[in-house]
Amino acid sequence: MSAPSETEQLRQLALDHLWMHHAGWDQMARDGEPLIVVEGRGLRVKDADGNWWIDVNGGYASVNVGYGREEIAQAVYEQMCRITYFPQRTTNPPTIRLAARLAELTPGGLSRAFLVSGGSEANETALKIARACHRRRGESGRYKVISRRNSYHGASGGVLWMGSVTGVPRSDYEPAFPGMLYAPQPNYYRCELGSQNRSECAVRCAKAIEQLIVFHQPETVAAVIAEPISSGAGAVVPGDEYWPMVRDICSKYGVILIVDEVITGFGRTGKLFAIDHFGVVPDIMTVAKGISSTYLPLGAAIADREIANLFADDGHHLRHVFTSAGHPVAAAAGLKNIEILEQDRMIDNAATVGCYFKDRLRELQERHRIIGDVRGLGLMLCVELVADRQSKASFPEDAKVVERLNAGFKRHGLLLRAMGEVLVNMSPPLCITTVEVDEIISGIDQTLSDVTRDIGL
Ligand code: PMP
Repeated sequence: MSAPSETEQLRQLALDHLWMHHAGWDQMARDGEPLIVVEGRGLRVKDADGNWWIDVNGGYASVNVGYGREEIAQAVYEQMCRITYFPQRTTNPPTIRLAARLAELTPGGLSRAFLVSGGSEANETALKIARACHRRRGESGRYKVISRRNSYHGASGGVLWMGSVTGVPRSDYEPAFPGMLYAPQPNYYRCELGSQNRSECAVRCAKAIEQLIVFHQPETVAAVIAEPISSGAGAVVPGDEYWPMVRDICSKYGVILIVDEVITGFGRTGKLFAIDHFGVVPDIMTVAKGISSTYLPLGAAIADREIANLFADDGHHLRHVFTSAGHPVAAAAGLKNIEILEQDRMIDNAATVGCYFKDRLRELQERHRIIGDVRGLGLMLCVELVADRQSKASFPEDAKVVERLNAGFKRHGLLLRAMGEVLVNMSPPLCITTVEVDEIISGIDQTLSDVTRDIGL
């Protein structure tokens, strides 16, 4: 028997010692995983055996400028050579510049950023600001948080309980964080409230938030948190009525509106922030992922001036710190990343190539009966697959549709995963071209044909 290759040795070390995201190592071993990537350019990554793949989701919908931008590496290197960290009660130039840049870029009075290392930390920070803000205003009874079913806001202790994701139970982590309330998702394709169209769904779902606030008494409710366009429910763009109504409801009852732009921010939907499509200004915005294209861990909770000013004095300050928060090297990566997004007009590209991508998915829908819905905006797109278009019924479990799809995508060189019942989310880097879209469409097209044939539909 020949000696195992270096890649095989690495794979075995991973299976023996590495605890990977959302995966069991026994199943990975049976599937010949994990894939080990060693290099990236644009949309593509090369594995340790020299094969190139298209990463249709750009990491976790996070590599907005694409892989391999050496300017970011250079900015990181230069910052590292200058200063890598900071003494207590000091700060540093890139962190200051990034906070000021965020104040400039975000809408309305959003003007003060607490910098962190990712989306969960950003949302934990926003949650603490919201609760602490009410205390400083003399409303200490406000602690409840309204989020929406089929949304995701993070993995850590508090934010884990905001939203919910079908097929990802939280039973391992009970008991739940106190004060979590759940509103419906404005998903017109499967409206929980029985609506017949997008507009009716938007209005009913916004009213459901008001009903929850009233039922639980406004003086107990601290905040509403939601993504402008929901990733958890598969790129759900709410009807136009939704966001202005939610904004008005929050203002009417003194509830803080937190908009989670962790996925949608930094150009993903064809505007800098997705909430900009709806002309609404939140009280707190959270960002991560695209702020640095995940070249380094970075995120922020950005608060409205009036809210932030409640914390201006020692004694009233926010009692909150993460050691790595405000890291100068991550901030340098973020600043360079934002510069590239602007310089290369990637946000415009997300809008135009996003339209093209969606049109091509709609063409697939005409030919593949299992495509129930094509939705999304810019380069945040989703295809929902169903066994029957009329009834929107799911596939029988023993058809193993998700497994078949994922194996098919892999055969066609696509790093793309179907999940749940059954969503295929696509959030590629914003540098994608129409030629690359065609390549992805061809792989999806062939996979859908194979799966439809194999399950006998
Ligand atoms: N909010 C949203 C909308 C997300 O999609 C995610 C991550 N997928 C998070 C928050 C949490 O971010 P992180 O994984 O960086 O903690």
